[in-house]
Amino acid sequence: MKTENLMEKIVSLCKRRGFVYPGSEIYGGFQGFYDFGPLGVEMKNNLKQLWWKWMTKEHDSIVGIDGAIITNPKVWEASGHVKNFVDPLSECKKCHHRFKADDLKDDKKCPDCNGELAEPKQFNILVPTQLGVIEGEKTNAYLRGEACQTIYLNYKNVLNTTRLKIPFGICQIGKAFRNEVTLGNFLFRQREFEQWDLQWFCHPSEMEKWFEFWKKERMDWYKSIFTNPKNLGFYKHEKLAHYAKMAFDITYENSPCEIKEMEGIHWRGDWDLSGHAKFSGQDLSYTDPETNEKFVPQIVETSGGVDRAFLFLLIDAYVEDGERVVLKLHPKIAPYQVAVFPLLKNKPELIEKAKEVYGDLKKEFNVAWDDRGNIGKRYFAQDEIGTPFCVTVDFDTLEKDIVTVRDRDSMKQDKVKLKELAEYLKEKINV
Ligand code: ATP
Repeated sequence: MKTENLMEKIVSLCKRRGFVYPGSEIYGGFQGFYDFGPLGVEMKNNLKQLWWKWMTKEHDSIVGIDGAIITNPKVWEASGHVKNFVDPLSECKKCHHRFKADDLKDDKKCPDCNGELAEPKQFNILVPTQLGVIEGEKTNAYLRGEACQTIYLNYKNVLNTTRLKIPFGICQIGKAFRNEVTLGNFLFRQREFEQWDLQWFCHPSEMEKWFEFWKKERMDWYKSIFTNPKNLGFYKHEKLAHYAKMAFDITYENSPCEIKEMEGIHWRGDWDLSGHAKFSGQDLSYTDPETNEKFVPQIVETSGGVDRAFLFLLIDAYVEDGERVVLKLHPKIAPYQVAVFPLLKNKPELIEKAKEVYGDLKKEFNVAWDDRGNIGKRYFAQDEIGTPFCVTVDFDTLEKDIVTVRDRDSMKQDKVKLKELAEYLKEKINV
């Protein structure tokens, strides 16, 4: 399937089934903003929980924080964003559209109307805001342009309030805001989006080792949740920030967008801690408790977009199979893991039994209930939202306590004893 068509289909499915709605839709929308609907929020939460557990439970020495969206504006001077977080833009003298200078094939001609382009100028993409209630006395601040800064600000607090020693990591999932120049491609490039970051603090002599470790570790994680892991790749950045020795993107190769980046693995060195030490006047160095060596820790960052991962997972999972549309999402990510149906709607004893099964499963799984139309239609409706298992309560259930479990991908049906149902599902879901 052509990837552009695929994107249209995903956008339409997201709206139709309640994954993602355009922001402020009844007012004609607001470019670069989206709202997650009932299914989208379940899927996004599943994804975030998976990431969080993987970071904090499956790795030693990683703790999380949840930092504020607005920080002291000096943070953005120290980080270099006020000065450097700018993209040179060329504006068309005729249609006034602006383009990233880096994206232009011909830096003299407007790609939209062939008009003449002006010299590129710097525009700050941080989103400014004002705080305070008295006009004329308001304080200027910024909504954070990247979530990771609060990790650097709290690195000493974390050290002082935990027993962590270098090497260790601080992770965070949180919103970031950017006045992006070119919006579009649905969730791919928004003005408000969510990032999941790990900042790994280590000794300068171990940077290379940890960089390679996290590069592989993050790729393995994405591979474990994508339907087609072969669609994931690395992109090596040749143009590097002066402090960086290496930067790789984890890419989704089947991306219908102009760029494929989903997550960046960055060598940040001591750039951030040294910058904040300078601007704040605080000592942000670390003293090794065993050797007494004093140094500024170096940082390996893994910084990914939750929304981009969400979008790429949907694209990757989308399959048209004859008449049915299937989202072959990983069972742990799908909005619902199980759907429960009574075979017939007009048989109270079936409804009652099915409600009982539904209630029991809800204690352990995200469960959908459906009693509309016929079973075939219900299967199709669940396939389209990625529900991996459908449980039908029929006359065998009433007589023998046996249900029919239908698998989304193989469409095979298993007869399972009610008392073994939860275990059966758990085993299938924890793949
Ligand atoms: P790009 O080159 O695509 O603008 P970036 O290199 O500026 O991205 P980072 O600053 O490294 O991005 O941010 C880390 C991650 O945050 C990116 O890999 C991406 O997944 C996500 N991200 C960045 N900008 C946006 C955006 N405007 N909308 C949605 N996700 C974004």
